[in-house]
Amino acid sequence: MTQIIRKALDQHQDDKEKLFQEFLSFLRMPSVSNSNEHKEDMLKTADFLVKKLSDIGFQHAESFPTGRHPIVYAEYVVDPEKPTILLYGHYDVQPTDPLDEWRSAPFEPHLEGDYLYARGASDMKGQIWATISALQSVLQSSDLAINVKYLIEGEEEIGSPSLAGFMEEHKSMLACDFVLNPDAGMIAPDKPTIVYALRGLAYFELKITGPKSDLHSGSFGGVVANPANVLSRLIAAMHDNKGKVMLPGFYDDVREITENESLELSRLGIDENFYKKISGVPNLGGEEDFDPIERVGARPTLDVNGLYSGFIEKGAKTIIPAFALAKISCRLVPDQDPQKVLIGFRKFLEEQVPSSVIWELKLMSGAPAYIAGEETPGLEAFKKALKATWNVDPVLKREGGSIPVATEMKEILGVDSIITGFGLPDDQIHSPNERLHLPTQQKGVEALIRFFLGF
Ligand SMILES: [Zn+2]
Repeated sequence: MTQIIRKALDQHQDDKEKLFQEFLSFLRMPSVSNSNEHKEDMLKTADFLVKKLSDIGFQHAESFPTGRHPIVYAEYVVDPEKPTILLYGHYDVQPTDPLDEWRSAPFEPHLEGDYLYARGASDMKGQIWATISALQSVLQSSDLAINVKYLIEGEEEIGSPSLAGFMEEHKSMLACDFVLNPDAGMIAPDKPTIVYALRGLAYFELKITGPKSDLHSGSFGGVVANPANVLSRLIAAMHDNKGKVMLPGFYDDVREITENESLELSRLGIDENFYKKISGVPNLGGEEDFDPIERVGARPTLDVNGLYSGFIEKGAKTIIPAFALAKISCRLVPDQDPQKVLIGFRKFLEEQVPSSVIWELKLMSGAPAYIAGEETPGLEAFKKALKATWNVDPVLKREGGSIPVATEMKEILGVDSIITGFGLPDDQIHSPNERLHLPTQQKGVEALIRFFLGF
């Protein structure tokens, strides 16, 4: 280990207790973004971060007002010739309801063994704090090997409504070589994880309309087509019996995964039993010809998210419903385009819907998938830092969900993101009793110290 890394790690040992106390203050701030109730708390939290980043030596730190909650931005330029990293974070947290399921108050951090319980402890104040702790130790013991810009928004949990506009407006201020986004987690405490691909989404509402109002099923059954029956038949036809999606052209643009990727994914050790165990299902579904881990990360899907039609109260009522409605979402992979999926979906309906009903399909939201290039700057240095800390090669993972900010940063700033983090799958983020595994966060700090010095 180089002298300079040793010094920074020692420095962190000295700073640790004080940093922990400050972390508790950060967690006590109820920075809930979804209502106006906490507007003041949001301002205070942003100011707290501006102050902390200035205190540890950032040459510039500022809070930018937006339509809702401020964006914190800070930078430290060590040498304009060196590469620049943009760190991403969000200081807002999810609401706390249902409050009575919390075993301790969500904004009064509570220590139990290795776990610290508080709203935001894992998602993602604990992650922000790991980066700030590492930056502080490096800046106090030597100097960064890379220029650092830090953007921390306060609206991630409500879909980041101000972020894209802010990035468009401040492109040159935010110019960088790559992004480090620690808002994802690890798959297990001994498996440091880097996410290099995210699935996109196309969300639809499909409405099948029949008679002008609900009808008596005795008087009209047999002559008027039942919209609920029609919708069910359509949904059934959206997959074949091997789990393949039957919308025309659905797989046309799907990028096949490389052999290398396939090998990497199999290293995750996530098999059929893993999914059976965590979901509690007797057997898995989906495309038979692919491994479960590929089906979640590298294959597109179509799922009904909700169904509504006719009489859904207790007891019985004999009607032919006037309409039937389904919310349907497709998870997309590179290089599918939500608009093209919409065209395929329309074509499917034109071919399949009988003339006895009327159909209407709306694309409610859509976002393409994201995949980082293998050449992402900083990726090798980050892998090395994780390996030196955990003594294992980090796992590279495709994530089944979406992180829209990574896609937007690619589109607006033209840079790839290293998506990672030191939270664990059982941190209960977004749920009551959210917690953070402190020894893992600690390792994260060490890895980040190595990373910030590793260029
Ligand atoms: Zn988050």
